[in-house]
Amino acid sequence: MGTLQTSGKRDLRYGIIGAGMSGILTAIKLQESGTTNFAIYEKAEKLGGTWRENTYPGIRCDVPSHLYSYSFEPNPDWSHPYSPGDEIQGYFEKVSAKYGVDRVFKDGQGFKYFKSKVKILSPKPQNISPKPQI
Ligand SMILES: Cc1cc2nc3c(=O)[nH]c(=O)nc-3n(C[C@H](O)[C@H](O)[C@H](O)COP(=O)(O)OP(=O)(O)OC[C@H]3O[C@@H](n4cnc5c(N)ncnc54)[C@H](O)[C@@H]3O)c2cc1C
Repeated sequence: MGTLQTSGKRDLRYGIIGAGMSGILTAIKLQESGTTNFAIYEKAEKLGGTWRENTYPGIRCDVPSHLYSYSFEPNPDWSHPYSPGDEIQGYFEKVSAKYGVDRVFKDGQGFKYFKSKVKILSPKPQNISPKPQI
């Protein structure tokens, strides 16, 4: 698999900020396009964004769960028409695992990085290698 080339002269690198619903989708679609030279920058220790962060009692989706899903990953197993937050979080974890987006691991400094090809080792810009092009 190659990487996207816009000019034919150099490979582009991509940085995705946040592994929430949008970041996960972006990663999946970049992979689908054959792009491997990208990284997800996530400040938390777990993906999921909103559904990781918000765990108060009774939290649930306010749009129908079958619509609050990726079109390419329908989930016939939603327990409710408007499913609880932890179930939505589980959905994103499951989809991320399926597409390899969950291959994040701790670097010892509280940061996570994705894809061994791209290193995001610390919040200090001088330690980010290679520099992402955003
Ligand atoms: C309580 C609550 C309920 C909601 N309910 C619904 C609903 O029912 N239906 C609906 O359509 N929408 C709902 N939303 C909106 C919801 O946020 C979006 O639907 C969707 O989850 C947004 O996804 P996202 O990936 O764009 O952002 P987020 O889910 O917010 O993910 C952003 C990610 O980026 C990370 N991040 C942020 N800043 C940085 C940084 N500087 N560096 C690194 N990482 C960073 C965060 O840690 C997070 O993981 C709700 C929001 C909240 C807060």
